[in-house]
Amino acid sequence: MTERVNLLDYTLPRLTEWLATQDEKPFRAKQLFQWIHQRGVADFDAMSDLAKSLREKLKAVAEVTPPVILSEHRSADGTVKWLFDVGVGNGIETVFIPEDDRGTLCVSSQVGCALDCKFCSTGRQGFNRDLRVGEIIGQLWVANKRLRELEAERTGDSPGVSRLAPRETDSATVPKPVSNVVMMGMGEPLNNFGPVVDAMSIMLDDLAYGLSRRRVTLSTSGVVPHIRKLKEALPVALAVSLHAPNDAIRSRIMPINDAYPIAKLLEACNEYLEVAPRDFITFEYVMLKGVNDAPDHAKELAKLLEAVPAKVNLIPFNPFPESGFERTSHDRVKLFQKILLDAGYVATIRRTRGDDIDAACGQLAGQVVNRMKRKDVVHFRSPTRP
Ligand code: SAH
Ligand code: SF4
Repeated sequence: MTERVNLLDYTLPRLTEWLATQDEKPFRAKQLFQWIHQRGVADFDAMSDLAKSLREKLKAVAEVTPPVILSEHRSADGTVKWLFDVGVGNGIETVFIPEDDRGTLCVSSQVGCALDCKFCSTGRQGFNRDLRVGEIIGQLWVANKRLRELEAERTGDSPGVSRLAPRETDSATVPKPVSNVVMMGMGEPLNNFGPVVDAMSIMLDDLAYGLSRRRVTLSTSGVVPHIRKLKEALPVALAVSLHAPNDAIRSRIMPINDAYPIAKLLEACNEYLEVAPRDFITFEYVMLKGVNDAPDHAKELAKLLEAVPAKVNLIPFNPFPESGFERTSHDRVKLFQKILLDAGYVATIRRTRGDDIDAACGQLAGQVVNRMKRKDVVHFRSPTRP
């Protein structure tokens, strides 16, 4: 028996190609794509404007199967965290962060992460595998659906999906609680390049989620050649995990810095800005007590970032068991921020959300069956560095 194809794995061009092999016209692909993503419908029988013969054919060879929710936690501040089953003992986490003017979904790209940043819980879990397109876009598909259900429970309305055919011009026929996506969950998105780009292109597609490139942010630890590839493939908003004002400190906490040191990283950032949807790069900087949080580090950072139009986002360190790091005091973070502000930068302090349910940055651990030996992880750390 041939395996069914999971249509969540397909971008619109890929779906069109696949339907052509089933002797179906391109406009059918558009209809099907809208049903799946705009309407959030998985049941072919509910796709009322598709011919019955096509629906029967689809039922035989295809499916719309998102990852299954293993658990759901809701924080006092409205943040929701899901653990999804991605097979053979592996789980990934996805977090929804509601704010007054937007709803942001923090999406995972890999089961674990191979890059072993010292302050990151995901990195500590090791790495199992890359996520498929359907597992990445499936996080958004399920989140929108589940958030509609939660809202309906709250208001007493029915979350029922309308059976009317979606209209091409009307992407908001079903409310979409998620207005922004950040690729900041588990994993290094640029190390799962093809599937991440395909999933983000579905996020941007007007016949799917219709998010603008400014509302989709990819966060990277600085995989320089892939920043260049992203510039060509799909330049969305870019956030770069810098976390240090110089190579010595950065290499100590982020082994990837040995392969792609700061100067090369900033060069790639400047090239990226030629096509980016925003005219600055967001640099993330996790404040680690006694490591990178001194006033002199702030001054050094201010000098370093003269090279790139930059916004700095200071992140209070979110502790996890046996991390070996401590959180910088709020006063000291404020002082660090003031130095950057005085130097003319936009510098914000990230509000910690969902930490009561371990949903804050760097706390996502999921369930990772590690397939990496630790010595493989650290091999590109230069022995001459501290
Ligand atoms: N791999 C990508 C995206 C996932 S991590 C990256 O590294 O950019 C998302 C953000 O959370 C990154 O900026 C990361 O450095 C930060 N982070 C990791 N561990 C953290 C922790 N314990 N506390 C606060 N932020 C953390
Ligand atoms: Fe991977 Fe990002 Fe964590 Fe580093 S901070 S280990 S790149 S997920």
